[in-house]
Amino acid sequence: MDQKTREQSDVSEVAAEHALNPRNYGRLSRYDGRARITGPCNDTMEFWVQVKDERVERCTYITDGCDPSLASGSVATEMAIGRVLEEAAAIGKQDILSALGGLPLEVEHCALLAADTLQAACRDCLRHRQTAVSAAERNPLSGQSTGGDSDGCESCSNTQCQTGDRHQGESQVECADRQKLLSRLSRIDHKILVLSGKGGVGKSTVAVNLAFSLMLAGKRVGLLDVDIHGPSVPILLNLEGETLLTEGDALLPVDLGDLKVMSIGFLLKRREEAVIWRGPMKMGVIKQFLKDVEWGDLDYLIVDTPPGTGDEPLSVCQLIEDADGALLVATPQEVALSSVRKSVTFCRQLGLPVLGVVENMSGFVCPHCNQTTDIFLSGGAERMAREMSVPFLGRIPIDAHIASGGDAGRPFVHEDAASETSRAFASIVSAITAVEPATLASPPSQPAKP
Ligand code: ADP
Repeated sequence: MDQKTREQSDVSEVAAEHALNPRNYGRLSRYDGRARITGPCNDTMEFWVQVKDERVERCTYITDGCDPSLASGSVATEMAIGRVLEEAAAIGKQDILSALGGLPLEVEHCALLAADTLQAACRDCLRHRQTAVSAAERNPLSGQSTGGDSDGCESCSNTQCQTGDRHQGESQVECADRQKLLSRLSRIDHKILVLSGKGGVGKSTVAVNLAFSLMLAGKRVGLLDVDIHGPSVPILLNLEGETLLTEGDALLPVDLGDLKVMSIGFLLKRREEAVIWRGPMKMGVIKQFLKDVEWGDLDYLIVDTPPGTGDEPLSVCQLIEDADGALLVATPQEVALSSVRKSVTFCRQLGLPVLGVVENMSGFVCPHCNQTTDIFLSGGAERMAREMSVPFLGRIPIDAHIASGGDAGRPFVHEDAASETSRAFASIVSAITAVEPATLASPPSQPAKP
């Protein structure tokens, strides 16, 4: 029996279940304590702790580690929540192992890593509180504040700072930018990032049709296209040639009623211009787009993110700190699938929940007889999703109406609302949003633009 098989078979049911469905996974944007530790096997774990009335109210974690690390972090957060801070800090390796029903000897260090990181996050809370108490003693009129919930930001001396301390290595300007972004995003209930491991797999098509479906279901929706390599939203919505309008220092999105659209493509005079932009320039534009667009109040913001797992998608995911999660788009071919595996790992490392995987271009719908034929292997994304314990949301076939509707700037969920493909898409949307598929698939009572 090889090492991996032995580890898996030796793991208790509780540990296996926590690894499959990790509890409290993800980062907290407001927290009182935080710590990140890399263990002896190079796995990194990070914990966030929020305290109320002396007790741990919320505790979350992320890890880039293996299943035992996932399980140890998960159980540690559950044990910490509800405890007095000092008691949570005292949770040790043995406590975690007992709660998990044990771990194989060779991976017990994962429980130690979880205990150490939780303890360091709790100590960070205590340190913040001590600093706040000392500050209040020095200046009783300033009011008492703790860590991430402070009214003013000591580090950047900005009395308007809503986010507490400056992030490590962050300049004053960056801190101010982040606050601006947070304040804009605070008016949006749900933020969904659409990601893919590579370009050309239909990421923008999914983003546009998801945004359109939600708009047709009566939601106020924003669609933000920051795919610097190929901003195709203007084409897919027939908005090519739109120019950017500003109001003060804000960029105004194109207003299609309950759907507001902003694309990096509106900045380009010619489609091919993006390729000549250099790295830092791209990052600057992405950041500006995220913080300067005046969306107003929205139910959903759908973000069409640059493909891959490099610096550009990384900065988008890091800047939108409280995203609901990522929707991953893959095609059935193996190259695309292995890159989606990387995307799942990428999301886990960032603490970004994976809402699910969609397999696009899965089979071909014959325009004459409406029969679906698998011209590539299909079902790979579902297998991959199962292996990686992320939800599989459904398949979209290659459909001539999607391609022709896309070229003409007409989303297929609007043009062909009654088709099989639109129904398949409606159940994907409903899985993401828990909206009734029937509502999403039915044609709108009023013709919507475009
Ligand atoms: P990405 O954003 O991943 O680069 P796009 O969404 O721009 O990909 O799609 C690339 C092209 O493929 C577009 O012309 C689009 O209309 C077409 N396309 C996407 N999905 C399908 C599909 N399921 N069937 C037919 N054409 C599709």
